Amino acid sequence: MTRGAGGWTNGLAAALPAPGWRTRFAPAPTGWLHLGHLVNAVHVWGIARAYGGRVLLRLEDHDGGRCRPEYTAGVLDDLDWLGLAPDDAPTASFRAATAVGAPHDARQSDQGPRYAAALDALAAHGLVYACRCSRRDIAVVAPHQAGDEPRYPGLCRDAAVSFEETFARRIRLDDTTITFEDLRLGAHRQQPASQCGDLLARDRHGFWTYQFAVTVDDLHHGIDVVIRGEDLLASTGRQWQLAALLGRAEPPRVLHHGLLVHADGSKLSKARHDTGLRDLRAAGATPGELLGEAAARAGLIPQVRPLPVDALADLFAP
Ligand code: GLU
Repeated sequence: MTRGAGGWTNGLAAALPAPGWRTRFAPAPTGWLHLGHLVNAVHVWGIARAYGGRVLLRLEDHDGGRCRPEYTAGVLDDLDWLGLAPDDAPTASFRAATAVGAPHDARQSDQGPRYAAALDALAAHGLVYACRCSRRDIAVVAPHQAGDEPRYPGLCRDAAVSFEETFARRIRLDDTTITFEDLRLGAHRQQPASQCGDLLARDRHGFWTYQFAVTVDDLHHGIDVVIRGEDLLASTGRQWQLAALLGRAEPPRVLHHGLLVHADGSKLSKARHDTGLRDLRAAGATPGELLGEAAARAGLIPQVRPLPVDALADLFAP
């Protein structure tokens, strides 16, 4: 089969752990799923199916200000309709937990106690401080260039802000340099302390942050391989550094795949309806057509053609 993936798939067999390893599909239900999510799902399920991995579904609804129950229900419905079945935490398990008001192990909004325990463990080592800075305070002191991420300049690091004053907590990061070998992009070096500064674990509204929740959960769920879009590449160093502070002996392997872009070069967003799975479904697309569209837009097949879910493994198989 002709593949446009650029040859990186040839190295997967040697780079992945022995069969039985675990990865995750971890959407944030802040909107409806779109073709960008489907590109991620094609990689997650395809690589897992080709190399003996297991897929965990994790609902990353940590941001209570942006997530909505109807988006969560939409994720579950879309996955069922597409035939993308998680091996661990199947869609029915989330619906069953919701129906009886029970917490689910892989739904982040239910895991406040897990994150609080992780924060307490770090606090016991003197690594946590309360932070009263707003984004504006940070921008005034540390203006960043367009395209650069803001780096927390450490205003509250030694200010001994009372834990009663705010929910916001930061983790002290020393100037460790993290090196890792991305399974597609090769060797990388990142120094989180100079990229983002001390990590925000919980914001002033009391919501756990993506970086903190995802690192705690990847450790808790025993995730061996993280497969996600390259917009999250810069997060890897800080997640590895945080995972080490939390006692993780071996960081997960990482694979960052390419992102979908519109014809005009702009990144896909949930606000654009032309790629929303619900809208495409309503317009009559079949699951195979959408999987094929995502695979083609990701460069995994040369032309759009219907792709049954069972054929995803072939896109990555040796
Ligand atoms: N929840 C994140 C998102 O939807 C992805 C998490 C990850 O893969 O690390 O963008």
